[in-house]
Amino acid sequence: MRAESALRTSGHGPSWHISVQTDLLVSMKKHVAVIGAGVSGLTCGILLAEQGYLTTIFAEETGTGITSAAAGAIWFPYDVEPFDAAIKWALESYRVYDLLRHEPNSGVSLIELQTFSRHGTIPIPEWANELGATLLDPSGERPMASFSHGFVMQVPLIDTTIYLPYLTKRFAVAGGRLTDKTHLSALDEIPAEFEIVANCAGIGARILVPDDDLEPHRGQVVIVPRLDLNCAVVCDDEPLMYAIPRTNDCVFGGTNEISDNRQPDPATTEKILGECSRVLNIGPPRVLTERVGLRPFRRSGVRLASDRLTDGRTVIHNYGHGGSGFTLSWGCAADVLRFAEAIC
Ligand SMILES: Cc1cc2nc3c(=O)[nH]c(=O)nc-3n(C[C@H](O)[C@H](O)[C@H](O)COP(=O)(O)OP(=O)(O)OC[C@H]3O[C@@H](n4cnc5c(N)ncnc54)[C@H](O)[C@@H]3O)c2cc1C
Repeated sequence: MRAESALRTSGHGPSWHISVQTDLLVSMKKHVAVIGAGVSGLTCGILLAEQGYLTTIFAEETGTGITSAAAGAIWFPYDVEPFDAAIKWALESYRVYDLLRHEPNSGVSLIELQTFSRHGTIPIPEWANELGATLLDPSGERPMASFSHGFVMQVPLIDTTIYLPYLTKRFAVAGGRLTDKTHLSALDEIPAEFEIVANCAGIGARILVPDDDLEPHRGQVVIVPRLDLNCAVVCDDEPLMYAIPRTNDCVFGGTNEISDNRQPDPATTEKILGECSRVLNIGPPRVLTERVGLRPFRRSGVRLASDRLTDGRTVIHNYGHGGSGFTLSWGCAADVLRFAEAIC
């Protein structure tokens, strides 16, 4: 197609020749279908499309309804297995976010994260040491009276309201196509022209694959107007609590329970507002909106592996990132690309 148009427009042998060469190179790259337009699917789609793969994302849902749009989202390994692999993917992703924060309109910045416990001490994890984490005095500059102990470190803050549109645009600029409102009942339904399938269906993989090892770890957050808060505050002890200031608003959380219910619960909203306001020592702010997402937790750990469809095509699974989909996204996508390159 490209060679034909070059022939028509230039009429010169050399440019036709160059165009054919380019076409041969492009045609050597395979058609890849990515299932899912959350952070996992979009990140994989970008790496594949930017490497010249003819990439199409198929997704049932896009936009604010998906789990990725409910996330805080800060870089922090949480509610994910297996530990060693997760830390490797997380640190790889940290380095990419550290570059992305210099890119205009990416929605990525660096923020001070204060992590607290309610009782006793909280040790600094080994992986956090190499990122410069230090112990925090709860009676320090901004008193967090409810907490006994904590540590502080700089982490990437990913403003999903800016970052997900940024990923979508970057994918399109790389030549990727997005086919939304497409529900797949089975992986084999991907059209035969796609030689490789990357499965990034999040909790949807539970039925799509199917995979009984996946567990929906439901999380609800409340979005409130921007506050005078220049750090993210997190406490993993019950009740789970976090406040994450973003460009235009602030995310209050949260919950983590096994449930498929994607509807916001008004009583939970009140509890989240109450606990965050108490910890931050402010009056309950106005509610802008509520969001619910199902963290795709996989008991045996993230599934990042190559397999075969019944017709022999390759499927690369990339799901089960639990509460760390953003934290692991670039590291995992790089492995998906490695699997694809090994096939081609
Ligand atoms: C409240 C909350 C807070 C969180 N905070 C953080 C945080 O601070 N940091 C962090 O790293 N992570 C956080 N997470 C976790 C993170 O949001 C998830 O790990 C991540 O969003 C999973 O992304 P995903 O792309 O794999 O799945 P999703 O975002 O769920 O996307 C799945 C995609 O696959 C599509 N799909 C599914 N099934 C099918 C099908 N059968 N056919 C077609 N398409 C299908 C969906 O429509 C969707 O487009 C949080 C999660 C929640 C709920």
